[in-house]
Amino acid sequence: MDRFDVVVVGGSAGGLTAAITARRHYPDASIALVRKEKQVPIPCGIPYIFGTVGSPEKNLIPDDLLKQSRIQLFVDEVTSVDLENREVHTAGGQSLGYQRLVLATGSEPLIPPIPGMELENVFPVKKDVTHLANMLEALVKARHLVVIGGGFIGLEFADECRKRGVQVTVVEVLPRCLSLVFDPDLCARVEEELRRAGIELRTGTRAKAFLGNGKVKAVQLETGEEIPADMVILGIGVRPNTGLAREAGLSIGEQGVSVDRFMRTSHPHVFAVGDCTEKVDAVTGKPSNLRLASIATAEARVAGANLFQLRRENRGTIGVFSTKIGDLALGLAGYSEQRARAEGIDYVVAQAESVNRHPGVMPGASPLRVKLVFHKWSRELIGGQACCSESVGELINIIACMIQSGATADRIATCQVGTHPALTASPIAYPLFNAAEMALQQL
Ligand SMILES: Cc1cc2nc3c(=O)[nH]c(=O)nc-3n(C[C@H](O)[C@H](O)[C@H](O)COP(=O)(O)OP(=O)(O)OC[C@H]3O[C@@H](n4cnc5c(N)ncnc54)[C@H](O)[C@@H]3O)c2cc1C
Repeated sequence: MDRFDVVVVGGSAGGLTAAITARRHYPDASIALVRKEKQVPIPCGIPYIFGTVGSPEKNLIPDDLLKQSRIQLFVDEVTSVDLENREVHTAGGQSLGYQRLVLATGSEPLIPPIPGMELENVFPVKKDVTHLANMLEALVKARHLVVIGGGFIGLEFADECRKRGVQVTVVEVLPRCLSLVFDPDLCARVEEELRRAGIELRTGTRAKAFLGNGKVKAVQLETGEEIPADMVILGIGVRPNTGLAREAGLSIGEQGVSVDRFMRTSHPHVFAVGDCTEKVDAVTGKPSNLRLASIATAEARVAGANLFQLRRENRGTIGVFSTKIGDLALGLAGYSEQRARAEGIDYVVAQAESVNRHPGVMPGASPLRVKLVFHKWSRELIGGQACCSESVGELINIIACMIQSGATADRIATCQVGTHPALTASPIAYPLFNAAEMALQQL
């Protein structure tokens, strides 16, 4: 039996980052990573396989990262964990011993109990290259695609697939697309953009059945409407892969494998990170059902550093989203206004708009709008939303860092940042600072 200082189970965002971080912190450790798949898709890039990127082979996490970090790769499925003897056993008949184990077994798509799920060309979104290649093959022949779910994944699929000329309809059970994340004004902007791109929307209703004889032909809605469909994609969420941890006897919470602030499971030599773990909301301390690569990798950087000494702490999940639908880029970090209200938080909100270049006639100039939510009594930033130019991607990350460092409205309004006519908004009208100033007038 091979023995290692560290064995990581899972080779995607969480597992790979945990292994690389372990190497950085423990240069002499022997590290093995076991993953089921030969090739690992970049999870966030999956929707782009169907349009901009063009094929699953162009959307892979490179294995060079493992070689560079001297991590031994095993392509195999771990079928059991023996906590007492510190060993994992695989489907391929291997046994690997460990001093420390990291479980990064991720998540699987939710499969709803909708009649007709078994029909050909009805696809959940699996992070699996062969499955994605089959989806692409079906899309190339399809004329009518129905996407179930108007969250990030569903909308990114809808927007990318329509670039191949297929007629796309999105079905969303909530009254608005993306409404679990953004405030209603931004949801309305996204829907406008989707319609402008020729995508049909059916909101406030759910798919009742997939119809067809062998192959899907239509989606029947609760309203009775039947939408023609020769392909259906489901983007309705995921469930954590907790089976391995559960069978090993580790504690499992409501939303995944239970971990402490150091990413340790109920067994001191076993850590867990990513989609398979239970998360805690950084503001309320309540369990959070967010599953994002940004969270998985942050948790992995905590676990990887803590394997043999406790060096880092996970202070909870804030949730940072960004996407681009048509020409509209948008992002959110932390709390939206509607979520702050729903949690009963006493907050103030302020918005500011500018252009992402200065003067506004510079090439690439487009509107940049920022909305900030502050906790009224601590004056700390708890949420931010931004749209509409591509500058949003990095701006929302700055807002996320400010939330996590406990920045107050005063602190934000007096921050120094670099500005340049070809790259940023004007320092006089910088929307992040102007929104903070406007919030201060209410605080
Ligand atoms: C279409 C799509 C788009 C997304 N876009 C974004 C985005 O833009 N931004 C963002 O932040 N997040 C995004 N996400 C979410 C993000 O992909 C996940 O949060 C992230 O992949 C979680 O990483 P993970 O390593 O925890 O789990 P996973 O990616 O699920 O990986 C789990 C790994 O564990 C392996 N494994 C499981 N069980 C075993 C076993 N028994 N033995 C061996 N190996 C095993 C699997 O083979 C895999 O390698 C997206 C998700 C999808 C599906």
